[in-house]
Amino acid sequence: MKIAENVSLKNLNTFKIGGNARYFCEIFSVNDIKVALKFAKEKKLPIFILGGGSNVLISDDGFYGLVIKNSILGLELSELEDDKNIVLLKAGAGENWDDLVQFCVEKSLYGLENLSAIPGTVGASPVQNIGAYGAEVKDCIKKVFAINIDTLEEKIFENIECQFAYRNSFFKTKEGRRFIITAVIFKLSRKAEINFNYKDIKEYFEKEGIKNPSLKELREAVILIRAQKLPDLKKFGTAGSYFKNAIISKEKFIELKTQYPLLPEFSVGVDMVKVPTAWILDSICSLKGFKLGNVGLYEKQPLVFVNYGNGTAEEIISLEKKVGNTVFEKTGIKIESEVEKII
Ligand code: NAP
Repeated sequence: MKIAENVSLKNLNTFKIGGNARYFCEIFSVNDIKVALKFAKEKKLPIFILGGGSNVLISDDGFYGLVIKNSILGLELSELEDDKNIVLLKAGAGENWDDLVQFCVEKSLYGLENLSAIPGTVGASPVQNIGAYGAEVKDCIKKVFAINIDTLEEKIFENIECQFAYRNSFFKTKEGRRFIITAVIFKLSRKAEINFNYKDIKEYFEKEGIKNPSLKELREAVILIRAQKLPDLKKFGTAGSYFKNAIISKEKFIELKTQYPLLPEFSVGVDMVKVPTAWILDSICSLKGFKLGNVGLYEKQPLVFVNYGNGTAEEIISLEKKVGNTVFEKTGIKIESEVEKII
């Protein structure tokens, strides 16, 4: 394994923004991680773990430390002794997420299909508990393998220990950031119902006249719907949704609903409500398509920030502040970014 110096990070993240890593290495095994961590310890360097770079914003000044690109590969299928309908799939953290979903669909394994076409790696999927079209990865995760940065020991986290929540997990906490994910075991099913109740998917199949879509048809539908709404990574820099949806109290929701009668709502537990931040940005703040220098809010989905070319991290942060302040002035809601920052 080679540790390189002054490596540009711009083309290693989907925002296409950021300066150089003082040190950079790509790791392909657990042993490589240990070598990299020893190097960082000796030189007293901070470390940053990079997967597909699809959910990060990197400073224009780069990162004065060691960036470790996690490229651990490998797919292993096994069956449960007592239930032949359940299949376990162990995947290396560096595997491409969507290739994994495609692999599952080709093998007729149910569970991950609604999460088709999400950019990034397997190792990043538990960190923010990726979710789309009514599915969250937490429902298919059995175990997460990780290395403790301080002790170099391996720890296997059971699903419950991962503390999964909406776009959140233990791996986002201060303590959780001390672990590097090396592999994930997914629990998939040979026999399952397809979940196509999410509005856009349901409408798609109604239009196509398909009553009982197959696993492959569902994946194709998700890929098509996403392509219509989200920017093409080949054309624009983006990290997908920049903000989380807002979770507010019922009381606050009722107050806002009198002012904005069309405000959509999705119940979260007994007394909290999720309101789509995209709707607030569009219908309340009129920010859809808003541009600030070289960056802006995507015209088809305002939750998504876009780098139209030569955008900087500074511009993205200014846009985040501008958007956050506008939402707060109009609604009293403090929206949170879901993008990880090395600033
Ligand atoms: P959409 O269908 O326009 O809906 C807007 C928001 O309303 C979504 O964010 C969704 O929350 C919420 N919502 C809609 N139907 C819901 C239901 N039946 N139950 C609970 N919540 C519901 O959303 P979109 O922008 O086209 O995105 C479609 C899906 O892909 C969403 O699930 C979205 O989260 C996901 N996605 C994620 C990213 C990312 O970077 N993280 C990027 C693009 C799309 P949820 O977000 O909680 O589902």
